[in-house]
Amino acid sequence: MENVVVLIVGAGPAGLATAACLSQFSIPYLIVERESCSASLWRSRAYDRLNMHLAKEFCELPHMSYPLNAPTYIPKTLFVKYLDDCVERFNIQPKYLTSLESSTFDNGENVGPSRFM
Ligand SMILES: Cc1cc2nc3c(=O)[nH]c(=O)nc-3n(C[C@H](O)[C@H](O)[C@H](O)COP(=O)(O)OP(=O)(O)OC[C@H]3O[C@@H](n4cnc5c(N)ncnc54)[C@H](O)[C@@H]3O)c2cc1C
Repeated sequence: MENVVVLIVGAGPAGLATAACLSQFSIPYLIVERESCSASLWRSRAYDRLNMHLAKEFCELPHMSYPLNAPTYIPKTLFVKYLDDCVERFNIQPKYLTSLESSTFDNGENVGPSRFM
């Protein structure tokens, strides 16, 4: 059992974006990811010729722009590299192979105890 104040579940784009924002404010957090890598949907479950279907200006993470010469519709390989760069830049260290098992919210205490393994 660990005592953590901010728990981010999943190291997909949303979890990485949240981690990047928290690090900008020096707010400590723990990020858990059930798979053995970040962005597992994009890395392992998307076919190689996939491009994002929205133009890049609508698909940026906070505090991190795409390279200036990036194509309008970002291909999968570039998106995965962009997410890897985000992990490195914000020193995000997901706890891999760790799943959230349950979570509740205590209105009285304003906390939400979670159980992860
Ligand atoms: C084919 C396709 C094209 C897309 N194109 C675009 C686009 O052009 N532009 C755009 O903005 N969006 C696009 N999206 C949508 C969206 O941006 C992506 O799906 C994105 O991956 C969503 O990020 P996410 O972090 O919310 O979820 P996910 O990428 O699904 O990440 C969630 C993570 O949480 C982990 N997880 C889940 N449950 C647990 C648990 N209990 N404990 C621990 N870890 C857990 C998962 O393993 C996963 O790694 C597209 C999606 C698809 C499928």
